[in-house]
Amino acid sequence: MAEMITEECCVCGIKFAITKIQHTRLNSCKNTFYCPNGHGQSYVGESDDKKIKRLHKELKSKQETIIHLRECNKNANDRVDRLRATIRGLKISRGQWRGRAQKIEGGIL
Ligand SMILES: [Zn+2]
Repeated sequence: MAEMITEECCVCGIKFAITKIQHTRLNSCKNTFYCPNGHGQSYVGESDDKKIKRLHKELKSKQETIIHLRECNKNANDRVDRLRATIRGLKISRGQWRGRAQKIEGGIL
């Protein structure tokens, strides 16, 4: 025998039973069903279809954010590399100037 779920009509208060399978399906789709006295009932909240669409949209948005952040990170890393190259260049220049200064002081130049 199918497992039954007891419901209570939100209008007239009558208690009635539906199968667990019906309950799962109605809770998933949020479609209207009726109490034995004909009052429309439905489970509130987001249907599974709407939830899937919403989550898919959120996933797409987060994937776009990840792509954007990866691009920002790449740009920042490129900038760091350029700054490091500039610093290396400045260190060489300082060394070259120091060598020239030593030669001048030594009377070589
Ligand atoms: Zn009712």
